[in-house]
Amino acid sequence: MSLNSQIEWTDATWNPVRGCTKISPGCKHCYAETFAERFRGVKGHPYEQGFDLRLVPAKLTEPFSWRSPKLVFVNSMSDLFHEGVPDDYIEAVCRVMVTARWHTFQVLTKRSARLKQLLSGPLRFAAEQDHVWWGVSVEDKKYGLPRVDDLRATPACVRFLSIEPLLEDLGAFDLSGISWTIVGGESGPGARRMLEEWVVSVRDQCRDARVPFFFKQWGGVRKKKNGRKLEGKTYDEYPRRIPEPIPDRELCSAHAEAIRLSLPDLPSSLVRLTA
Ligand code: SF4
Repeated sequence: MSLNSQIEWTDATWNPVRGCTKISPGCKHCYAETFAERFRGVKGHPYEQGFDLRLVPAKLTEPFSWRSPKLVFVNSMSDLFHEGVPDDYIEAVCRVMVTARWHTFQVLTKRSARLKQLLSGPLRFAAEQDHVWWGVSVEDKKYGLPRVDDLRATPACVRFLSIEPLLEDLGAFDLSGISWTIVGGESGPGARRMLEEWVVSVRDQCRDARVPFFFKQWGGVRKKKNGRKLEGKTYDEYPRRIPEPIPDRELCSAHAEAIRLSLPDLPSSLVRLTA
């Protein structure tokens, strides 16, 4: 976990799963892959196995150890709904999030069909929590917009869109049932361009639909220089959050222990024991 995340729209990241595989054009320059592969083969490093999919049960109970309420990006280095992650492990992640309700969790996926299926069935208990926000990534019309329809059909309390990297004009699309929209351009070497009019179109549609809008960055090769102002203004809007007090350490430890004791048997080939 990184308590001071560099990601503009969150406080902390939590990665009970690591690694992933590419699924659509938005993955082309995946920052998580670039970061993880740097450490492949480095003995004892959390990313010794590069970007190969790994479950990290030692990380599962981490949110119970933080002593202030956080906005937590879940699996910034993976995709919780990746086909290789067992259903009962996703359920364990959900049980942690539902119990640690003094934090706000942001779960973002490109596997929206599985999100919809699980949250409509066995994980419904986690869908209906106002402190667990469920989101899909949207990069274009072909791959991204169908995910919005899946998300809308998911019985979630808070649904959000991460429109990043925005690769084309999305045109008019349906924002009904959506509680938050983030837009950002791609950054780093080979970054694909994002035109201002594409961003303005999303912002204006958010305004019309009364959806909070967060403009993350223009991106590009020199991300810092390009900044994050849109038509001279910074957009830092969020859905409403209702803060809850953190229980004392003893109760947090008891919650963590209960999660550990109820962990399902996991396929050993997928498990990374070193946190
Ligand atoms: S789904 Fe996300 S984490 Fe997985 S490869 Fe694509 S961008 Fe990377």
